[in-house]
Amino acid sequence: MSAGALAPGATLGIVGGGQLGRMIALAAADYGLKVHVYAPDADSPAFDVSALATCGAYDDAEALARFAASVDVVTYEFENIPRETADLLARHAPLHPNAEALSITQDRLSEKGFINGLGIPTAPFRQVDTPDDLARALDALGLPAVLKTRRFGYDGKGQRIIREPAQGDRNAIFAEFGGAPLILEGFVPFEREVSVVAARAADGSFAAFDLCENEHRDHILALTRVPVPGLAAETGAAALDIARRIAEALGYVGVLAVEMFLVRNAAGERLIVNEIAPRVHNSGHWTSEGAMTSQFAQHVRAVSGWPLGDPSRVGGLAVEMRNLIGDEAADWAGLLAEPGAHLHLYGKGEARPGRKMGHVTRLIR
Ligand code: AMP
Repeated sequence: MSAGALAPGATLGIVGGGQLGRMIALAAADYGLKVHVYAPDADSPAFDVSALATCGAYDDAEALARFAASVDVVTYEFENIPRETADLLARHAPLHPNAEALSITQDRLSEKGFINGLGIPTAPFRQVDTPDDLARALDALGLPAVLKTRRFGYDGKGQRIIREPAQGDRNAIFAEFGGAPLILEGFVPFEREVSVVAARAADGSFAAFDLCENEHRDHILALTRVPVPGLAAETGAAALDIARRIAEALGYVGVLAVEMFLVRNAAGERLIVNEIAPRVHNSGHWTSEGAMTSQFAQHVRAVSGWPLGDPSRVGGLAVEMRNLIGDEAADWAGLLAEPGAHLHLYGKGEARPGRKMGHVTRLIR
């Protein structure tokens, strides 16, 4: 137990009310904690499963201060909370992960600089604030390249690949992004996309779930599988070590995900970090049934100042997690009838295309 550890009956505050907040709240309830969720949307999935709820904007200083003062610890389920909001919360209650970790990882430029500073490779990148910057960055990095907004990107939003010089002029491409601060990244010719979900506790202990492979459809995570087929054992260990170094350097407390590209060439397998998510992550959903401790339970343990749980795979089995996107969740009755399929639904009303409605995990014997 760390100094200041919570006791059952204490209240965990969660900023953000989506499915990640909902699953953190369920895990907290399982440990006898009360949960207070703060989110801007009245129909937030996490409100349904929390003892206390505040519906408020992320810049409503008064409501945020009241919320933070009413809980024993604050955490968050997504990274686009303004830095000022994080600082304000931290003045009223311990905030995990800390505001600095949030602020470094919510800007792709500071994030990549931080990762490179640890001697960990990323795609080559350049800051782009003007069309001239873009021209220079394209000259420096070559094609193809990926132009992204520095902030607020998710599920492939706020980015485009530039493949050929003929693809429109640089002023026009720059204008498409509406003047937002940008970053140009060299294109990484990856074989697979993989990620590490891991936790660091207040006492500095660290526990990582096994490296998993992620497949996307229309830029949205569709499938996670673990272990990664055909991967050298050293690569899996190297990925976990990258996550450990990042968590340590951030003074991190809680669960984080590190998304990486696996590149294969004559020299073997190489890992290149794409981004850090300072929160529980979709690619960790398989842990709910597939690991001895779920990522949500692990996050609650970490932010509560408790010892971390065992991250190993249940029975050493392979696990697969499929997202149910849009109307894929309509087949819930079929999934309930399938032996061994573990269905999770997020309680969202409308199944819009691209909306994550639930997921299903399967342990493979
Ligand atoms: P991101 O928003 O950075 O996670 O990017 C979304 C997806 O775009 C990634 O999952 C990759 O499939 C692809 N992508 C992003 N950056 C690069 C890059 N530098 N090189 C190749 N593919 C990329």
